[in-house]
Amino acid sequence: MFKAVYLEKPADRVEARIAELDDAALPEGEVTVRVAHSTLNYKDGLAITGKAPVVRRYPMVPGIDFAGTVEASSDPRWQPGDVVILNGWGVGEAYWGGLAQKARVRGDWLIALPAAFGTAQAMAIGTAGYTAMLCVQALERAGVTPAQGDVLVTGAAGGVGSVAIALLARRGYRVLAATGRTAEADYLQALGAAEIVDRAELAVAGKPLMKERWAGAVDTVGSHTLANVCAGTRYGGTVAACGLAGGMDFPATVAPFILRGVTLAGIDSVMAPRPRREAAWAALAAELDLERLAAMTREIGLAEAIPAAAELLAGRVRGRLVVDVD
Ligand code: NDP
Repeated sequence: MFKAVYLEKPADRVEARIAELDDAALPEGEVTVRVAHSTLNYKDGLAITGKAPVVRRYPMVPGIDFAGTVEASSDPRWQPGDVVILNGWGVGEAYWGGLAQKARVRGDWLIALPAAFGTAQAMAIGTAGYTAMLCVQALERAGVTPAQGDVLVTGAAGGVGSVAIALLARRGYRVLAATGRTAEADYLQALGAAEIVDRAELAVAGKPLMKERWAGAVDTVGSHTLANVCAGTRYGGTVAACGLAGGMDFPATVAPFILRGVTLAGIDSVMAPRPRREAAWAALAAELDLERLAAMTREIGLAEAIPAAAELLAGRVRGRLVVDVD
């Protein structure tokens, strides 16, 4: 028997509870993992509250990430005792996920836990942190260097934002942190932000082109914020867009793209091919300051993940939440 967050949708409302499940209830798959830690990302918040249709079928065990130890495997690449992590691939959406003491998945979806991290640290990073690194690497590929100017991070006090600030500062960028929580200025500066921007400035419809303020940006918010971020990007700069915390729409003009040569780089973590994931995790292992990671992380238990989901969507969680599934 094992415990899991369990989602059912008896009518038009999602119900979440902790269930005791039999191992026989696990779906088919090549690798059975004894999960040690999982985490709560924005998407898990949507799944648990039912606020957006991210769950494709019920009953569902949510959790788009997990870290744990292989218990049984029919995939020759994985042996009992291997410590592995999983991010995305539709787990926690279409396939049972990581907010549980056990998971059974395809061997293709796993990667070895980098030696630099324990399972709790890997989940403090989670999809949010791995996506932050995908964004930073996209800016780098596009040629955004610290010498070209500042880099803006939106949704700064959230999970992706917090990790992105720490990573960019470590690479020598001067980081502007856009947040609605200006009371978190000390927290954001401790992570490496040089300046705080009030997110209200970016949240309303702006002009097609605005003063050129940043050479690059990591946007987790979407909607008017993303449009304004593009409009304020310097000539030849790049915006890595990964999120929709402010909305899925993109009420923009093409002016920044055709008059300033701005590039909009889309970032997807869920189906990112294996080499890109491994490169992101290797760079996280080499670069992420573990003290800064600890400063942005709070640990909770499995049952607490259910109320925390609503807190996360309300923008009241700072940084990252790790879930100790035991
Ligand atoms: P969090 O909830 O931890 O952070 C989101 C942050 O966005 C909040 O902390 C808040 O920051 C800001 N925010 C929230 N609501 C609004 C709003 N209405 N207007 C403007 N800003 C707002 O979520 P995550 O960091 O886990 O994820 C951030 C986004 O990135 C989500 O949309 C998520 O779905 C997406 N994402 C996408 C991935 C991909 O593969 N493309 C992977 C991972 C995440 P503050 O208080 O500082 O203003």
